[in-house]
Amino acid sequence: MNKVLSEDPEVYGIVEAEKKRQTEGIELIPSENYVSGGVLQAMGSILTNKYSEGYPGKRYYGGQENTDKVENLAIERAKKLFGAEHVNVQPYSGSPANSEIYFALLNFGDTVMGLKLDHGGHITHGLPISFSGKAYNFVQYEVNKETGRLDMEEIRKLAQEHKPKMIVAGYTAYPRDIDWEAFKSIADEVGALTMADISHTAGLVCAGELKSPVPFFDVVMTTTHKTLRGPRGAIIMCKEKYAKDIDRAVFPGMQGGPHEHIIAGKAVAFGEALQPASKEYAKQVRKNASHLAEELKKHGFKLISDGTDTHLILADLTNKGVPGKQAQQVLDTVGITLNKNTVPGDPRSPMDPSGIRLGTPAVTTRGMKESEMEQLANWLDQVISNINNTDLHSKIKEEVKEMCLKFPVPGINI
Ligand SMILES: *Cc1c(COP(=O)(O)O)cnc(C)c1O
Repeated sequence: MNKVLSEDPEVYGIVEAEKKRQTEGIELIPSENYVSGGVLQAMGSILTNKYSEGYPGKRYYGGQENTDKVENLAIERAKKLFGAEHVNVQPYSGSPANSEIYFALLNFGDTVMGLKLDHGGHITHGLPISFSGKAYNFVQYEVNKETGRLDMEEIRKLAQEHKPKMIVAGYTAYPRDIDWEAFKSIADEVGALTMADISHTAGLVCAGELKSPVPFFDVVMTTTHKTLRGPRGAIIMCKEKYAKDIDRAVFPGMQGGPHEHIIAGKAVAFGEALQPASKEYAKQVRKNASHLAEELKKHGFKLISDGTDTHLILADLTNKGVPGKQAQQVLDTVGITLNKNTVPGDPRSPMDPSGIRLGTPAVTTRGMKESEMEQLANWLDQVISNINNTDLHSKIKEEVKEMCLKFPVPGINI
């Protein structure tokens, strides 16, 4: 960062402060992670200088010998990683990718099924104020309020009633593995297309730790910056028969020039994900999450679906008498970052919901294991059970920092 320091000390100062925050605190937001130094450098490369509208071999501008190579490399690695027939690596991020899929395969006003936001769905899965909810007729399914799990019979009934043109599965706040084959058979009964959004879990899916929708579903998308540990961005995978429609919807349908420096970062991240170490990582993410869940239960936390199969835990804090927003704010002051979250059927508002969402992808990247999860559950309990005790908070903040300094963040040298 020496060039940024000499050219723009103001920006330099902000980035240094963020490095300190990331190093000295514990990151439990389940959609976040740390990229490697290799991914960081690829993203910071001079590939950002190049316009490359179009696709490898079919570009609108000259000078594409290197951009074609890097994009093809990212595509080939993604295909190998997920066993996909066709991959588009150009989507700028997850939300654009989802809009592109809808734009490719639906007409405006078509009926689509997606999980409701406060039950764990994403804003792009039909939230009424989002593009998805305005442009398409989303029918929102829910999880069972008692079990916190998807009820495939209810979903089948809803599908038969509404005859959607597409069913969207894969979520933002759902702690359990997904029965993709059951979704596929419901979709087949009503003649619907299947779209899987594995943004959160892709790193666990490609390691074989969670079931993959790729063999069954028409289209599968994922962000690249969550459990995949790549740059902020997304990819769309599909069966060969949808390849042309998907590619045309990405460019020129919704995007202009692809970000080849980010695509280079995706290629590096996919290369890393193809290494055996990433399988160990994915396994440990799940071990850490289930251990943390068990420890939290010992401290009296009420978990949605009573636990987790994935990297993610959703806790309803109603019995602790602390709203999710306050828990998030106070935990921030001790250096533990997580997010407030609605719980299924939440009586409170999304801006001040009943629950918190946490996960283990980032702490596992730093090398934390089961014993650190026990420590973490302890701190979470102490802070939430003593929400106004600022002396205790200061003491825990020091302890958090001390532990964090033993686990360096990849890509950050201090
Ligand atoms: C994170 C996420 C997205 C959107 O990704 P952005 O890159 O933030 O636009 C889409 N779907 C799901 C399920 C997600 O978790």
